[in-house]
Amino acid sequence: MIPTSSDLNSTQDPAMAYNIRLKPDMPTLFEQSVAGRRGDSLRPLWTQARAPESMIPAHYLRPQPCLLPELSEPEVVRHYTRLSALNYAIDLGMYPLGSCTMKYNPKINEVVARMPGFVALHPYEPAALQQGALALMANLQDYLAEMTGLSAVTLHPSAGAQGELCGILMIRRALEKRGNARHKMIVPDSAHGTNPATASLAGYTTVKVDTNAQGMVSVESIAQLMDEDTAGLMMTCPNTLGIFEKDIQQICKIVHDRGGFVYMDGANMNALCGVARPGDFGVDVMHINLHKTFSQPHGGGGPGAGPVCANETLRPYLPVPVVVQDNGMYSLCYNKPDSIGQLRAFSCSFMVMVRAYAYIRSLGPDGILMNTHMAVLNARYLRHLLKDTFYIPYQTETLHETVFNDKWQKPYDVSTLDIAKRLIDYGYHPPTVYFPLVVQGALMIEPTESETKESLERFAEVLKQIAKEAQTQPKRLKDAPVFAPRRRFDEASAARKPILRAKRNLAPE
Ligand SMILES: *Cc1c(COP(=O)(O)O)cnc(C)c1O
Repeated sequence: MIPTSSDLNSTQDPAMAYNIRLKPDMPTLFEQSVAGRRGDSLRPLWTQARAPESMIPAHYLRPQPCLLPELSEPEVVRHYTRLSALNYAIDLGMYPLGSCTMKYNPKINEVVARMPGFVALHPYEPAALQQGALALMANLQDYLAEMTGLSAVTLHPSAGAQGELCGILMIRRALEKRGNARHKMIVPDSAHGTNPATASLAGYTTVKVDTNAQGMVSVESIAQLMDEDTAGLMMTCPNTLGIFEKDIQQICKIVHDRGGFVYMDGANMNALCGVARPGDFGVDVMHINLHKTFSQPHGGGGPGAGPVCANETLRPYLPVPVVVQDNGMYSLCYNKPDSIGQLRAFSCSFMVMVRAYAYIRSLGPDGILMNTHMAVLNARYLRHLLKDTFYIPYQTETLHETVFNDKWQKPYDVSTLDIAKRLIDYGYHPPTVYFPLVVQGALMIEPTESETKESLERFAEVLKQIAKEAQTQPKRLKDAPVFAPRRRFDEASAARKPILRAKRNLAPE
């Protein structure tokens, strides 16, 4: 059912004021607080009968009691349950965010990650008691090495961005060892924002290289920019337009011939797994986003993981500790004189590794290859379904995602943002918008392999419907979303002047 304008007025219905489940201004816990209300129903423990001063040194005590909201247990439970129902999730519907690979996360991963042996493990336990966990890490490293063709693997980095930093610091260390760290790093204009940020955090000046008319980096542009003061190139492949960089092998050769290294942003590895190996086409070091390619629940802030795979030249610079095997026993080795050091506490986000391991094992090599094919097929099918509805700025054939824009909607004063907001009314999470920056008004869609043919067709149907509305009733798009707990935000103010404190309804002191 397509909503009508009378439905739009339902927000004025008096029932809305009472229906707390739909209420847009749902009160915060602090606003619901009533002085003296208690959430626990347990009898006082002996500790509560004693004054805190008799147990804790005075200088550790607060001068005043902490101002916490006071609520009953059901109030707290209902608050969080209501909040969870406001959330969009991959378990509720399609999540077409481009670049983010919001694929369905099989529940078997969660079953495995909750096995008591993993849950109860503490990283300070002696290696002898952690053999299973260390073996899992070593095996996962082997699988990632096999898929990337890069044999030196670390599971440390907490996300793609930290993986980038790890890889670029390894390049830096390798160049320092040769006597000159160099000053510049080449980054294409289609790169994710983390790439130039990483390069400058690692001490390099970024040199931008433009995407050509085919949506790729050209051999000539790299040949022109790559010099003896450039540490190398950071390249995403397939790139953020979903296009495979067809000249990457030749580009890698140019960088290598002038003493540089090639870093590959492997966030789009879900388009390559089982088909092509970056190590084989000349990449020296890359990261993989386990939370994208290897199915981890993500989007709510993590944890994710960005393991780094490098070739043997860069192995000595891997962060510590590294998993080593000696006489059939696994352990963590910290004694690596050339290492870039330790990037985080302990050695990885372990439960993320367990889920990725379960995912890879449950699919097997055939399943992983099939996933890659399906991710590409789904994206191409969607591109085909929508090619007459939204303009495609780069005509080159794409792999796992497609970038459209709002060129055909602009004459009706409808923009990408309006289309994205209207999708919320139809019950979909919007795609990625205004990225990559090389496309004006970008609408970037990555369906992933999880969606069925019917699901893709339904989504395309909705987008066509919205494109029709853009022509006939553009105001609907301008008003969207109306069927959401919140309408349109003033996004600039929300980012610049966020209101992080709720109005407090606490007991006077
Ligand atoms: C997601 C992504 C990143 C950053 O990864 P995080 O895990 O979010 O830090 C980098 N590059 C590309 C192309 C990405 O899609």
